[in-house]
Amino acid sequence: MNGTDNPTAGGGSMGGGTATGGTSVRFRCGHGAPAVDARITLQRDCPLCVLLRETRRTRAQLIGKAAAGARAALAEETRIGATYEWICARGHSRFTATVREALTGPGCPKCLANAAAPAARFEGGVPFMKPGLRLGTSATEQRLRAALGERIRLPHRVNAVRISRTFYGKPEVWPDIIIPALRIAIEYDDPGRDGTAHVGLKEVSDREKDAALNEVGWEVIRVRAGGLAELGRHSVVCRSVTTAVVDRILDLLVEIRGSEAVARILIGTG
Ligand SMILES: [Zn+2]
Ligand SMILES: [Zn+2]
Repeated sequence: MNGTDNPTAGGGSMGGGTATGGTSVRFRCGHGAPAVDARITLQRDCPLCVLLRETRRTRAQLIGKAAAGARAALAEETRIGATYEWICARGHSRFTATVREALTGPGCPKCLANAAAPAARFEGGVPFMKPGLRLGTSATEQRLRAALGERIRLPHRVNAVRISRTFYGKPEVWPDIIIPALRIAIEYDDPGRDGTAHVGLKEVSDREKDAALNEVGWEVIRVRAGGLAELGRHSVVCRSVTTAVVDRILDLLVEIRGSEAVARILIGTG
């Protein structure tokens, strides 16, 4: 049989058989011609059954993806190049594709386009430089960055992290301080001059931001100053930014990623 799916290829033993088309060949899996009509029974499964096995799916699962009108024919189908109408699992419109396409890829053109378009989906967690972004950085936040920068190497060329959802309409978030080597972001929160920053809706938004980072493998340490309570998995509650706060952040980095990873970015330790 040697790799061909041509149903007429049965070797010479059938003597004078002139079978054409798929009707006279029966496969070991039972697909193909009904037993009574079969002029050739191949000692292997039909191509579709082979592909199902390779892609670890059942024929019932495949049939479940097909449009209703296609199901009966698909139940008997042997050819992976045969074209059918399918239903997109994500609710896009019906689409036409071969069995091979339906089994090995999204099949649905809209799903295919989505997979190709927003690079964010594949770049989730990648830090990058968003030009002209930072505004309203507080003096305290700058002090925190400077103090931390004396202890560990902080890159200056990144200010945003790609996420796999959107946050305020963008496929990225902009943490206050980014440590790409550890995939850890540090946020500085305080109540601000009028005492209302980082409470209420802002707190919900902060949680969303943390969740978006967590989804792409990042952890967030929140420095919660000026009377703000803990928020998220890793909080450093403090009155103001002191050496003790920086020490606590260093401890948290080690707790989260381990001392070896942190040692690689430590500054000035013999
Ligand atoms: Zn089969
Ligand atoms: Zn789709």
